Formats: sequence, structure tokens, C-alpha cells
Amino acid sequence: MKEPIAFINGKVITPFQLISPGTVIVEGDLIKAVGRGLPLPENARIVDVKGAYISPGFIDLHLHGAWGGDVMAAEEAQLERMAEGLARGGVTSFLPTTLSGPLAEIQRAVDCISRVMAKGTRGARILGVHLEGPYFNQAQRGAQNPEYIIEPHPEDYLPLLERYPCIVRVSAAPEIPGGLALGRELRRKGIVASIAHSDATYQDVLQAVENGYTHVTHIFSGMSTVRRVDGYRLAGVVESTLLLDELTTEIIADGHHLPPSLIRLVLKAKGLDRVCLVTDSMSAAGLGPGTYRLGGLDVIVEADVPAEFEVQDAGTNFVAKLADRSAFASSVATMNQLVRNMVKLVGLTVPEAVRLATVNPARFQKLDRFYGVLAEGMKADLAVFDEEIEILLTMVDGRIVYERENE
Ligand SMILES: [Zn+2]
Repeated sequence: MKEPIAFINGKVITPFQLISPGTVIVEGDLIKAVGRGLPLPENARIVDVKGAYISPGFIDLHLHGAWGGDVMAAEEAQLERMAEGLARGGVTSFLPTTLSGPLAEIQRAVDCISRVMAKGTRGARILGVHLEGPYFNQAQRGAQNPEYIIEPHPEDYLPLLERYPCIVRVSAAPEIPGGLALGRELRRKGIVASIAHSDATYQDVLQAVENGYTHVTHIFSGMSTVRRVDGYRLAGVVESTLLLDELTTEIIADGHHLPPSLIRLVLKAKGLDRVCLVTDSMSAAGLGPGTYRLGGLDVIVEADVPAEFEVQDAGTNFVAKLADRSAFASSVATMNQLVRNMVKLVGLTVPEAVRLATVNPARFQKLDRFYGVLAEGMKADLAVFDEEIEILLTMVDGRIVYERENE
């Protein structure tokens, strides 16, 4: 067996407490001990992090691409490029996420992901597949390709779910015909059902909760809000998500999708336990501005913030938009940038922001037996970063998969 590794002189975020100076001892692929002034194993390799933060590795439950890799390309090399790039942002686990497209194309992407999962990657771990679509409401399609948005039919999705147990999350609109039956089937199979690109009313959302939906995809994006019917007001998905404790949700805190005020509103309503950070990124994340493709649509990556927006110079400084600039087309952010935004723009402490990127996504995805907390017996997945939340080192399964070169 490999020698144990001891990280010393860290500000250790468990993430429920901050231990400083703290030590984390890793043995094999597991965490052996976490604490202050721990005795170090004789043969341990010592890594002095010199006051940097040590936290559980970040978990991204929603992203379509990054670092030049695109999930829908269904190419193993592109997924591997993504996995290695993501580790540079402190990510240790992620769910490659498909987009609305022909079912055969979605299946090709899923098949490719399952092959890469079987082999493992040299970077962040693939935890499973997140299907975002194609079962959506056209009225809330956002940047999902309208040509491929359809209703869920068991004869389509049952064979797919049976054949690919790597599918662990499905984002769908519960109010369309077949949406509730889909939710029940997902619940039966232990797959997370998430309300997404939905025009549901409060009553529809209550039914969704009864029929297996537990999470809400990117709050405020692709969803209904208060509407009037004959003068009577109906709550939409936004208000239902804020109100119902049964539902967890996720925010794209890239500094563009949501202003700090709306993020604070979500945290005020949901607390620190029912919200996680997701990048919802596309292939240009980690790269620069330019023109790219996403789900068969042209997108522009640029830094054009309207003067009315609350923050002018935030986060990634770039965002992806549809070619006509009518909607955002996912983000180009990295997880460490989201954590930084939660601290600098929203005002959370570093341990609070880290909770939203580690233990919370692990719990929402039912992975908290292994991931999301630095404690004895948990997987040795961790990120080391400085005060600016710049990643210095990333470890997956007890292997150092990224280390920033010393300048
Ligand atoms: Zn979406």
C-alpha cells in the first residue's frame, strides 16, 4: 500500500467547523484522521499547506461541459479532458449533464459516460449521469433546443433507465403529460427527480412533491413565477421552491445568472442546508470568450453586463448567451469561482460557502455516506486553496490529481 499522506498547517473546513491549525491524514483512498495536533504516522509523506484552506472536494451536480469538453459530443477523450480540467477548479466529483436532443443522441452520450466511468479518469470522478431534458415545458425552454423537447413516454425512458443504472438524476417538468408518472418511476429506482424548465403552478408543484420530485434545477432559470388568472394570483415554481422545505435547490452563482439580492433571498428562504452551487457550465468554462456550440445551438461567450445589473465586475466576467442574446446558455464558471462569489458578492463565510459546494450536493444526491465531509472513513477527496479560493491542490480517492505549479 502507498504511504499515508499528512496535510499539516491547514485551515481545515470539515465543513461544519473550521480547525486551525489543522491536520488531515489520508491513508489509501480514505481519510484516516482530521484534527488539531494529531500524531503523524512514521512513514507519512508530509504536505505543509502553510495556512491554506483544506476542504472536502467540490461536487458539481449540473454541467454540460468544461475545459473544451462537451458531454453531448459523446467522445471519451472530451469527458476525460473535462474531468482533468475540473480538478483545477477543486472539483472531485461531478455529474455530466445531457441536454434536450434526439433520444438516440442522448443515449450515445450516456453510453459514452458509462464507459468512461468504468475505466475511471485521471481527474475528477464521474458519479453518474444527469439527464436535463428532453421532458420539458416549451413555455420555459430557455436555452434547451425546442425541436427536441417532448413528453415522457415510459416506452422511451424505461429501457434507457434499465440499461444505464449510471443515470442518477433527471431534470423534468412535472406538469406536462406523463411528468408525474416519470417522477414516480424515478423515485422507485432511487433516481433524483428535479423540477426543471417548468411552468408549474403551486398546486402542480405540490403534486410533483407527492410524486417523487425532491429538487429544483437552477432556481429562477427556466421556471414560472407569479401569474394572474382572471385577476387571481397563482404562485409559480419560484415561489413554491422558496416556500416548501421538502424541496432542495441549486444556484448558478457565476455573478451573471443571479444578482446577490436574489441569491440572498434564496438563502433566506431555504437556509444553508437546502441550497447547493452548480456551474451549469458548457465547454468554454476554463477557456475564453468566443463563439461555441451548445446542444446544436450557437452561443456567444462574452462579458457584457447591463448597467442596471447589481454587479458589474463579478466572478468569471464571462457568460454564455444564445446567439440572439435572448437567454443565457449555461455558464463558463468554475466551482472555485462560485465559492469565491458566495464569499465576496453574497457575504458568506468561507466555511458556509464550502457547505454549499460539498456536503449539500452530496446529501441531495444521496452520496453523503462517502462524500462531502472531511472525517475519518470518508473518501479522500479534498481541495486545498488560498484566501482568494484559488486552488492549490486537488485530491481524488487519495491521489493528488492537480497541484498548482510553484511560481
Ligand atoms: Zn437548464
